[in-house]
Amino acid sequence: MKKRFRVIIRILICMIVIMGLLLVERMGIRYDVKRSSIELLPVSAAIRNKPLQEEKTCLFITDSSETNSIEARLQFEQILIDMRVSYDEVDVVADEIPDFAAYKTVLVGCVNLSPIGDKILDLTSYVYKGGRVMFGLPMEKDTTLDVIASKLGIIEHSYSFHDVADFKSSPDFMLGWQRVYRIDDSYESSMEVALSSSCKVYASTADDSVPLIWSSDYGEGRFVVCNFGYCEKSYRGIYASAYSLLEDVCVYPVINAADFYLDDFPSPVPSGNSEYIMRDYRMDTAEFYSYVWWPDVLKIAGEHGFPLTGVVIETYEDDTSEDIKSNGSTADFYYFGNMLLNRGGEIGYHGYNHQPLCGPDYEYLYDEGYKVWESAEAMKKAMEEVTRFVGSLYLSQEACVYVPPSNVLSEEGRQLIVSSFPGIRTIASIYLPGENSYPQEYEVKEDGMVEAPRIISGCEIGDYMMMTAFSELNMHFVSSHFMHPDDLLDEDRGAAIGWETLKEGYNGYMDYLDEVVPDIRKVTGRGFAGAVQRYSNLCVEKEDDDEGCSVHLDGLIDDAYMIVRINKGVSAGIKGAEVVQLAGNLYLIRVKDENVRINTKR
Ligand SMILES: [Zn+2]
Repeated sequence: MKKRFRVIIRILICMIVIMGLLLVERMGIRYDVKRSSIELLPVSAAIRNKPLQEEKTCLFITDSSETNSIEARLQFEQILIDMRVSYDEVDVVADEIPDFAAYKTVLVGCVNLSPIGDKILDLTSYVYKGGRVMFGLPMEKDTTLDVIASKLGIIEHSYSFHDVADFKSSPDFMLGWQRVYRIDDSYESSMEVALSSSCKVYASTADDSVPLIWSSDYGEGRFVVCNFGYCEKSYRGIYASAYSLLEDVCVYPVINAADFYLDDFPSPVPSGNSEYIMRDYRMDTAEFYSYVWWPDVLKIAGEHGFPLTGVVIETYEDDTSEDIKSNGSTADFYYFGNMLLNRGGEIGYHGYNHQPLCGPDYEYLYDEGYKVWESAEAMKKAMEEVTRFVGSLYLSQEACVYVPPSNVLSEEGRQLIVSSFPGIRTIASIYLPGENSYPQEYEVKEDGMVEAPRIISGCEIGDYMMMTAFSELNMHFVSSHFMHPDDLLDEDRGAAIGWETLKEGYNGYMDYLDEVVPDIRKVTGRGFAGAVQRYSNLCVEKEDDDEGCSVHLDGLIDDAYMIVRINKGVSAGIKGAEVVQLAGNLYLIRVKDENVRINTKR
């Protein structure tokens, strides 16, 4: 009897230990997991938004009478601000063009040079004496261009334009040069030119037939020509990289962060069957979600060392009234959410339900089937509920990320978050503008909110998304991706292709990042926001001399990252920073001292 009792006790103890271990797994009590080390600074830190030094070093010439120039202007303005280039802008049809000698660089954002008139000769002599000029757009052949063409390295050019359907960077020019990037909806956009052998071509079409970016030294100075006509947000990095070829040393701040979002995760696990999941796995959707999709997603991210950021949807009921009901089924939320946290991930808010924060007076630009909330009070109650819900489930973290449902957010909804939910410190919507969406720049708004847009999405990374991803690696040294678990249920998002193929796309994009930017910081939404704060607060001043340049960083918080491109000579040491060589003359530096010295030699 006694022996038997002991056996039972032993079995009981074993069971308790196993239950305890299971509980630990489910509850996410492994607090020691290494999370992003980039601290999110409080609103009281009063982060500045991309301050520019007072002295204007660049003259930007635009043409308000020309459509291409008007469109390009918005992009170039943002590119210059993000690179911290302080500039004067002049409209060639309305303003007097000032003396070029007062500037280190001139950026010409015009397609037609004739309005510049005789001043074009001043521009070439400015370069001859050491000035740096970039022609930012392909230009129309006219007598003004004819006069200066040979100085830009053009030996022959015609009135016609090439259809440019792809882009290839030389190995020393842009990060991600290992691939050719295809252009959707290509058109005849680049000048037909033959270049002198003295030009240095940095980018061309895949077959090398059309030079897209080149430089031509003239006297003591340099011209850079962008013969690339797609001046849109998705291509900014190409123009920024071209601009960085102008001065002997170019230095610009970057964010240095990559994150991966799982939207609608955790959320109520879908019930029932899905045609394609049944076809490929003979499982219902919930089984597939738990036993295939989620383990695969975790494994792939883990293999690449990327922590995931999941954003919660509490319920899929579309009720937008003030009558908010809590979701009592929390087991799946516990299980999936804590597993994500255990792997170094983070949980944020996506919504009480999937209806965007848009009040009763809001009008959607396009009808995508969304509702509006019955009242401002209803929106507030919904946000109160989801913040309570997330707070009660995941005790090991403080949520700070908000991802608007379908990337749609009204001004009223944004205001509500800022004024009533101080725990939300960053909004991660979308980078590229689209139908109803809330498009963002990487910045810190005056109210302290960190705007941290996602760039690409889904498992099938199409040509346009790959081009944008490539562009942003060079513009801000960032990557931000999101996907939904229900991509697998939606034919428009690739369900018919099947998960085995889709997951290769997801894995392939992480492979791409590991190949082309192995040094990028892998972070969650919170870490990303901290990186944007440090980037945003910086003001960059650069003093050139014969042996390189001295850089002063105003607003350095603890550390910051910058891209350095040396165009004359080679590096003879960079002081005040940790240095990683990215490509030939291209470096990523981690700055820890507000004064950096970059030495160059022949
Ligand atoms: Zn969603």
